[in-house]
Amino acid sequence: MTADPERARRWIDDARRVVVLTGAGISTDSGIPDFRGPQGVWTKNPKAEKLSDIRYYMADPEVRRLAWQSRLEHPAWTARPNRGHAAIVELERRGKLHALVTQNIDELHQIAGNSRDRVIEVHGTVRQVQCMHCGWRGSMPETLDRVRAGEADPACRSCGGILKSATISFGQALVPEVIERALRAAAEAEVLLAVGSTLQVYPVAGMVPEAKAAGARVVIVNAEPTALDALADALLPGSISDILPRLCGAV
Ligand SMILES: [Zn+2]
Repeated sequence: MTADPERARRWIDDARRVVVLTGAGISTDSGIPDFRGPQGVWTKNPKAEKLSDIRYYMADPEVRRLAWQSRLEHPAWTARPNRGHAAIVELERRGKLHALVTQNIDELHQIAGNSRDRVIEVHGTVRQVQCMHCGWRGSMPETLDRVRAGEADPACRSCGGILKSATISFGQALVPEVIERALRAAAEAEVLLAVGSTLQVYPVAGMVPEAKAAGARVVIVNAEPTALDALADALLPGSISDILPRLCGAV
């Protein structure tokens, strides 16, 4: 195991299929707080977690009203991609990015310039809404306009059902096809680059042992220790915005 970013950079230079897994840590430099970390919104205000729990959301109109108010203020609306996001765009430009699996819901990878078909969003996106009854999907900005115009809990215009951001809330099942795609990509990787994730949440964290078992080099970039540091071939703590451009050949 190495802590030398230059060695990890050479593995990436030599690889044709790099799979990147990103978590909340890559978006904090864009001003999007980590909801679960030690300074996280949920850690400091456990009540906020209720708004993201599907059971309370479906049962209680007051929870939905508060959730819509909180969506109006979501930091994603003003966030811009940072150097970490730009570095992964460079990896794609160099033809090395096999897949980009993200636990984030902010779409900053796509806004930075990564191809939509390359990004696998395991927790969905806050930029769309979904009807919990008929499955209709639509635009979050348009739905937020309805909230601003006075609809405290806007209903689906197709069926009258409950609308929610197209994200995976607590208590809600992941989409099996999306998880399968992520794990398959991990098994095809020559280098698995895990960035800004504590690697505690399964099945997504399972990408790391999956890649390792298939012979990939595992590179972990995170400010704090992760649950899977023991599997790393390179362990690079520190600022993602500083380290990632070096690893991906963006500087
Ligand atoms: Zn509907």
